[in-house]
Amino acid sequence: MRTLLTDLTKDEIAALPALAGQPRYRAKQLYDRVVSGIPFSEMTDLPAALRDKLAEECDASGAEIARSVSAKDGTVKFLFRLRDGELIEGVLMKYKYGRTLCVSTQVGCRMRCAFCASGRDGLVRDLSAGEMLSELICANRFLGTERVGNVVLMGSGEPLDNYDNVTKFIRLMSADGLIGQRSVSLSTCGLTDGIRQLADDGFSVTLCLSLHSAFDDKRVKIMPTAKKYKLSDIMDAAKYYFEKSGRRIIVEYAMMHGFNTGDADARELRRLTENFPCHINLIPLNDTDSGLRGVGAKEGIMFRKKLEALGASVTIRRSLGDEIEGACGQLKRRYTENEYGSEEK
Ligand code: SAH
Repeated sequence: MRTLLTDLTKDEIAALPALAGQPRYRAKQLYDRVVSGIPFSEMTDLPAALRDKLAEECDASGAEIARSVSAKDGTVKFLFRLRDGELIEGVLMKYKYGRTLCVSTQVGCRMRCAFCASGRDGLVRDLSAGEMLSELICANRFLGTERVGNVVLMGSGEPLDNYDNVTKFIRLMSADGLIGQRSVSLSTCGLTDGIRQLADDGFSVTLCLSLHSAFDDKRVKIMPTAKKYKLSDIMDAAKYYFEKSGRRIIVEYAMMHGFNTGDADARELRRLTENFPCHINLIPLNDTDSGLRGVGAKEGIMFRKKLEALGASVTIRRSLGDEIEGACGQLKRRYTENEYGSEEK
């Protein structure tokens, strides 16, 4: 495949064959334009012959916005088209402290969680680091003068199942001065080897664990990975990450009616999370035709109170972008099922 410039570090861009014989400042010019999301045709400060040569050999972006849908609360859902035509989703959320982009790390997903729409068709392929970076660059360009301030790796895919590319992406983002590690959250369904590797490799991103149940035998009913990765091992690996990185761990827990919001669930969840700094993020389940039901507001608050009474640090995640189906693989499914009609922006 053609070279994707967002896959390259500054030094690798400087070493491009197309730049041979050019003055040294050309590399910096090119690099600045690439991380700003400017297409070759608009890099008018570069000589036309150089632009043509670059366009022959490389791509400046690994993703384009195929469609965007905006909600009243400021949430924007993107459908990105990759160079091979595959589609992935990204969600831009608006918080008081700024803009957060939810980035996809794979096309599809191997993990097949029962409640998640992203993994319904299994894994199609990994994204490269440059493709993930292109999601961010596209979102920044979409925003105009505003900038994305936080990145959460919570789109389609399991980040730790694509370890090398995801960690390269995290390094590229901070090297480019776009997003520092402390503004990045990586969410995993609990691949313990990857969690330990992250710790050993010296990362300091916020680690989020998708638990959704505090009992292995219940968890395996909704998350096939629970067969291999037991909760006690996941929490051991998370503790190890906390000890190495100093970062508090976030536990994600999607509340499901009649399944995981009882007294025993609260007690066991508290027990699992009380040995090192953990914050529990209760998530209202997004409906994805899975047959699993979310909880009403009352039931959610009751469960939060149970955890608080046990001494847990806990919040209910605010739900954004409901009316545009902001959740987990929904836009892509609708788009490919053609319910939105043609590809207008
Ligand atoms: N594979 C990673 C990251 C992607 S999913 C992981 O499992 O963490 C990001 C988060 O959204 C996870 O916590 C996931 O369990 C959750 N999620 C998936 N489908 C959901 C749904 N229908 N409602 C609420 N949360 C969901």
